[in-house]
Amino acid sequence: MSAQIIDGKVIAAQIRNEVKADVERMKAATGKVPGLAAVLVGDRKDSQTYVRNKKKACAEVGIASFGYDLPADISQDDLKKVVTELNANPDVHGILVQLPLPGHIDEEEILGTISIEKDVDGFHPLNIGRLSMKRREPLFVPCTPRGCIELIIRSGYSIDGKRAVVLGRSNIVGLPAAMLLLHRNATVTICHSRTKNLPEVVREADILIAAVGRAEMVRKDWVKPGVVVIDVGINAVDDASDPRGYRLVGDVAYDEVKEVAAAITPVPGGVGPMTIAMLLRNTTDGAMRANGLM
Ligand code: NDP
Repeated sequence: MSAQIIDGKVIAAQIRNEVKADVERMKAATGKVPGLAAVLVGDRKDSQTYVRNKKKACAEVGIASFGYDLPADISQDDLKKVVTELNANPDVHGILVQLPLPGHIDEEEILGTISIEKDVDGFHPLNIGRLSMKRREPLFVPCTPRGCIELIIRSGYSIDGKRAVVLGRSNIVGLPAAMLLLHRNATVTICHSRTKNLPEVVREADILIAAVGRAEMVRKDWVKPGVVVIDVGINAVDDASDPRGYRLVGDVAYDEVKEVAAAITPVPGGVGPMTIAMLLRNTTDGAMRANGLM
């Protein structure tokens, strides 16, 4: 058996089209479009690229984006002031503070300053808290985990009653992904660097979300035949045959595991394209809520 390949580019394109239609609907009803403010502190090249890609994606669906490029030595108070002003700006429906922030900035305090109505990354402690409680709805769910769930559902797999294993417990991926699976009635095991007998635990999974950042760690004999695999990992490995000298691989040994899985996401082209699509979805949801359209 060879697995169904879950194509994140195709599913992300569907979501972007849905968002575009909602943006047009909002414009027709209110004369306004959703707005996303992207706050970038310092000059990290990777962060600059992520922010540039997010702004480009906004433009493609008709979302207005506002860029704030701030110096690396900005003070905590000045950064808080920028966020507070954006909280009050009615044209801004989503605020994205690109992480990581420089070492002297208290990241938790900055993320906690973002109004929960505009917390499109879903990292505000109140949104994470609501996500972790039964029958509490967060206003926003973090983009990458939300994208993982969309990939499973839109590929026709149910989560209800399934055994799910999440590899990784980070605040941005593993933990919220596990909470989302739990909300959808999976029986969830969260694994991390201290988990004993990892392959044995992973073999119980009907659904596996891997987010550890370890190149091709999950092997064929770690998984149960018929598992649905969502590979979040992005790892660069040396490859002299590639003009760049490296290639990107996931946390799952794709070529082996696809022989036994029911479905699997490739890296690249699986979870990656979903993260920005879900940011567009979250921003538009926030704007529609603010305008009484949701
Ligand atoms: P973190 O480094 O924050 O978390 C990694 C998690 O994996 C931790 O919980 C850690 O355990 C666990 N872990 C590490 N090594 C092992 C091991 N050998 N066995 C079991 N568990 C282990 O990473 P992120 O969650 O931020 O990211 C994970 C991966 O996903 C990365 O490759 C990242 O690049 C990618 N990513 C991809 C995105 C996308 O858009 N596709 C978006 C975000 C991330 P412990 O808690 O005990 O330390």
